[in-house]
Amino acid sequence: MNNTNEMKLIFDSRSSNESFARVTVASFMTSLNPTVEEVSDVKTAVSEAVTNAIIHGYENEVHNICIRCRTKERTLYLEIEDEGKGIEDVKRAMEPLFTTKPEQDRSGMGFSFMEAFMDRLEVESEPGKGTVVKMEKTIGKGRKLWTIQSL
Ligand code: ATP
Ligand code: MG
Repeated sequence: MNNTNEMKLIFDSRSSNESFARVTVASFMTSLNPTVEEVSDVKTAVSEAVTNAIIHGYENEVHNICIRCRTKERTLYLEIEDEGKGIEDVKRAMEPLFTTKPEQDRSGMGFSFMEAFMDRLEVESEPGKGTVVKMEKTIGKGRKLWTIQSL
């Protein structure tokens, strides 16, 4: 197993596209034979990142969101990018309960969920330029790979 597979999805930053984005990534990763729980973890992480791009990055204006997806061996690599307003202090934004929109009932837990449900999370952002959220998850960790050794 050394094959890679890639896809890129560009869509409008409308909240109605959020479920479409998460289902598309879920269907892309099926070649890795994920469990229901693994798919659900990835869907949650995609939802959080896409919602952030829509409400924080673009502040509900409609612009492009780009999702890049790659599978290599048993690992899924994801990049979710917006060209929105960017984040002043990434380290602080990633702290649990930190939100710049408390008045909109935001709990500041999006990045914490992404971190909890994925194996790796990295955020690159520049104020005025935009944000890229990079995540990875290895599928089937701890699962035994059975092989037929003799007939
Ligand atoms: P919740 O996700 O719980 O509804 P939240 O979105 O405020 O609340 P996080 O997802 O953890 O919490 O994000 C923390 C903060 O990081 C946000 O309040 C926002 O200021 C900033 N942020 C996150 N993503 C982006 C983005 N794509 N563009 C600009 N700012 C962002
Ligand atoms: Mg959020």
